[in-house]
Amino acid sequence: MSEYIADRNDDDSSEDSGSYEEWIPSFCARFGHEYYCQIPSEFLEDDFNMTALALEVPLYRQALDLILDLEAVSDDEAEHGENGQPEVSRSLVEHAAEQLYGLAHARYVLTRPGLQALAEKFDRRAFGTCPRYHCGGMQLLPCGLSDTLGRQPVRLYCACCGDLYVPAQARHAQLDGCFWGTSLPGVFLQHFPELGEYVGKRPVQSYSLRVFGFGVNERAVSGARMAWLRQRPSTEEEWEEYAKCEYEMPTEVS
Ligand SMILES: [Zn+2]
Repeated sequence: MSEYIADRNDDDSSEDSGSYEEWIPSFCARFGHEYYCQIPSEFLEDDFNMTALALEVPLYRQALDLILDLEAVSDDEAEHGENGQPEVSRSLVEHAAEQLYGLAHARYVLTRPGLQALAEKFDRRAFGTCPRYHCGGMQLLPCGLSDTLGRQPVRLYCACCGDLYVPAQARHAQLDGCFWGTSLPGVFLQHFPELGEYVGKRPVQSYSLRVFGFGVNERAVSGARMAWLRQRPSTEEEWEEYAKCEYEMPTEVS
């Protein structure tokens, strides 16, 4: 029994010091990393997919090796390094690996398997639901406001009201938006047209302020400004007009 306990303790301590554990699953399982999809290693091993990322991420080769678990011994080196050098480089490489994984992630989620992985998360409401009451709990999609590293944190797009929201959990609000990218919601909705149709045909209600049963005039300070933004066609005629005007530029310019 005591041996068993001792063994277990050994196991625990070796786990803490980083015994062999695949980098990608452990990175995605980390608290606060719930929005990330797991990228298959074949995707990362393909140089074409990683084009130009070496220019954006320092220590590119070491970072990629860490992500692909090609450097499993570096933990021990870091711990037992006498001059402290390995520990510093380890944390730098770890940071670079997180950036590299994020930038590759933005590319992966636009591929067919990436979109499928994202759809599974979307179905599970992994990104949360729209806080707007009239959206009826529509699932949200992660969206970047910039494709450059370190510019804008991730925001969530609601396909129903077409608006952006701050993630409900603080741990998600500071994730870099470029790890999902600016094109993600648009590509996702194009790839799953059934979702676009479902959202488009859904009656969109919007709230307008009423006082003792009377609607407040739009021009009032508290009026329903921009209500048109959330309006959708309701009759067949309006749908026809909508279909025509959506892709047509006005012919008379001057
Ligand atoms: Zn919404």
